[in-house]
Amino acid sequence: MATQTSTESNNKVTLRQYVELFASTLGPQKGRVIWMFLLLLTGIGLQLMMPQLISRYIDTAETGGTVRTLSWIAGGFIAITVVNQVVHLFGTYFSENVGWSATNKLRVELALHALRLDMSFHKEHSSGAMIERVDGDVLNLANFFSKFIVHVFGNIVLLIGIIAVLFVENIWIGSVFAAFAVVAMFALHLVREFAMSHWAKARQTNAELFGFLGERMTGAEDIRANGAVPYTMRRLHQLLYKLLLVERPAHVRGHSIWPATMLLFGVGYLLVFALGFWLYGDHAITIGTIYLMFSYMENLRTPVERLSQQLQELQKAGASIRRIRQLLAIKQEIVDGPGANFPAGALEVAFDNVTFAYAQDTPVLHNLTFTLEKGKVLGLLGRTGSGKTTISRLLFRLYDPQQGAIRFGGQDIKAATLHQLRTSIGIVTQEVRLFQASVRDNITLFDRTIADEKIKAVLDDLGLGDWYRTLPNGLDTELTLGGGLSAGQAQLLSFARVFLRDPQLVILDEASSRLDPLTERLIDKAVARLLQDRTAIIIAHRLQTIQEADDILILDGGHIAEHGRREELERDPHSRYSQLLQTGLEEVLT
Ligand code: ATP
Ligand code: MG
Repeated sequence: MATQTSTESNNKVTLRQYVELFASTLGPQKGRVIWMFLLLLTGIGLQLMMPQLISRYIDTAETGGTVRTLSWIAGGFIAITVVNQVVHLFGTYFSENVGWSATNKLRVELALHALRLDMSFHKEHSSGAMIERVDGDVLNLANFFSKFIVHVFGNIVLLIGIIAVLFVENIWIGSVFAAFAVVAMFALHLVREFAMSHWAKARQTNAELFGFLGERMTGAEDIRANGAVPYTMRRLHQLLYKLLLVERPAHVRGHSIWPATMLLFGVGYLLVFALGFWLYGDHAITIGTIYLMFSYMENLRTPVERLSQQLQELQKAGASIRRIRQLLAIKQEIVDGPGANFPAGALEVAFDNVTFAYAQDTPVLHNLTFTLEKGKVLGLLGRTGSGKTTISRLLFRLYDPQQGAIRFGGQDIKAATLHQLRTSIGIVTQEVRLFQASVRDNITLFDRTIADEKIKAVLDDLGLGDWYRTLPNGLDTELTLGGGLSAGQAQLLSFARVFLRDPQLVILDEASSRLDPLTERLIDKAVARLLQDRTAIIIAHRLQTIQEADDILILDGGHIAEHGRREELERDPHSRYSQLLQTGLEEVLT
C-alpha cells in the first residue's frame, strides 16, 4: 500500500528547499536566466534615470538654459522611454519562458510520478484532486518562478536605487523616503493578509463545486435514467449558494487593498509636499528636486505594492511546494525486481499460500495455493465478490499479496521488472477502457511498431471486419469518448489488443459477458487459437465459456472451494462442479 514518508513534509518549506528547487529547475536554463537578470537591471537603471532627466530639464529651464540643452534633454528622455519599453518587452519574454519551462518540467515529473504510483494510491485520490496537484499547484509555482525573482529582486533593487539616489540628493529626503517605504510595506502587508484571508476558503469551495460538476457530468446517463436530475440541480444550487456566501466577503475584503494603497500614498505625497516646502524655503533644494521627489514617490509605489504582494505569493507558493513535495515523497511500493528469466512459451503459474487484503485486516483471498501447468487453461468460477478479479490483479502486480508468493515458471513474479511481467500477460477485462484516439491507437495502445496488416487480420479473425470496413477513415478513424461502439464491440477491441501482443499467459475476466451467443461462438474459434501454446485463466459466470478448460477452480469467499481436472470433476457426481453442471451455474453461484 502506498505510504507517506512525511517526517518533513508537514514542516515549513525551508530556505534550503527553495534554493534547491530554484537550482534544479532554473539550472538547466542558465542562459535565459542570465538574460532575464541583465534586462531586469537595465530596465531598473533606465527607470531611475527618467525622473532625473525631467528634474534636470525643469532646473535648466528655470535657470534660463539654452533651447539646445533643453532639446537634448527632451530627446534623451524620449530615447530612454523607447529603450525602456523594448527592454521591458524582452524581459517579460524571458521571464515567462523561464517560468513555463521550469513548471512544465515539474508537471511532467509529477504526472509521471502519479502514473507510476500504486493502484491503492489512485483508489484513494480522485482524478480531480490529482489534476489540482499536477496543474493547479504547479500553476501557482509558474507565477512564482517567472515573476517572483523579477518582482522581488527587481523591486528591491529599484527601491534601494530610489532611496540611494535620494540620499545623494539630500540626506533628509533619503531618510524620509526610507522610513516611508518600510512603514508602507508593513502596512500593506497587514491589509493584504486581511484582504486575502477569505480566498483560501473560496478556492476550496470552488474545488468542491468542480468536483461535483465533474462527477455528475460523467454520470449524466445514469442520473437522467434514474430521474435524479432535480436532486442534482438542487445540490448544484446549494453549492452555488455556498460559493456566494464565501466569495462575497472574499471580494469585498479583496477590494480593501486599493483604497488602503491610495490612502498610504496620499500620506506619502503629503510628506513630500511638506518636506519640499521646508527644504525649498531653506534654499536647500531646487524646484527640479521637488519634482524628483514627487516622481520617485510615484516610482516607489510599484516596489512597495509588489513586495507586499510577493510576500503573499511566497506563502502561496510555499503551500504548493509543500503539497508537491508530499506527493513526490509518496513512494511506490510495487517496484521493479532485478529482472527474471521467464522461460519462453507458455508459463506455469503457481500460487503459494497467498493471502491478500485491500484494506488491512479484511482479507479477500485466504491462503490460496494452486498450480496451473504451462499451456493449460484454468476455468475460474465463483460468486460475485469471491475474489476472481483480485487474482488477476495480483498476477499483474497491481497489488502485492501480504503473504505468500506467486510464481511464473518457478520464479517469483517480484523478481521480474514490471515491464517484463506486464508484457508477458495479456488480459481482457470486465471493463474496457477506450481512449479518445484513433481506432489504431485504441487497439495497439499507442504501439507504433505494429503493422496495419496485422491489425486488420486480427479484426477479421474476431469478426470485426465488417465493422472496420464501415469506418470512414479506416484505422485512423477517431473514437469519440465512450461513443461509437457498443459494449460488445468494445470488448472485441480489447480482445484484439491481446491478440496483437504475444503474451505467455492470457487472462479473460468475464471477457465474453457482453457478447451475444452468436458473436461469442464466432470468437470462440479465434480465442481457441489465441490460447494455443499459452497458459490461460478464464474467469466466467457462464459454464459455456469454460467447457474447454483443463482445470477448474471454484472460489468461495476467497477460499478455494474446489480445484481439480475438469474431466475428473465432471465425472465425480459429488463435486461442486458436476452439481453446477446439473443445476446450472447461474442458480448455484448467483
Ligand atoms: P465479480 O464476479 O463480481 O467480478 P470478483 O470475484 O471478481 O467478483 P473481486 O473484484 O475480486 O470479485 O472482489 C473481491 C472482494 O474484494 C469483494 O468483496 C470486493 O468488495 C473487494 N474489492 C474489490 N476491489 C476492491 C478495492 N479496490 N478496494 C477494496 N476492496 C475491493
Ligand atoms: Mg470480477
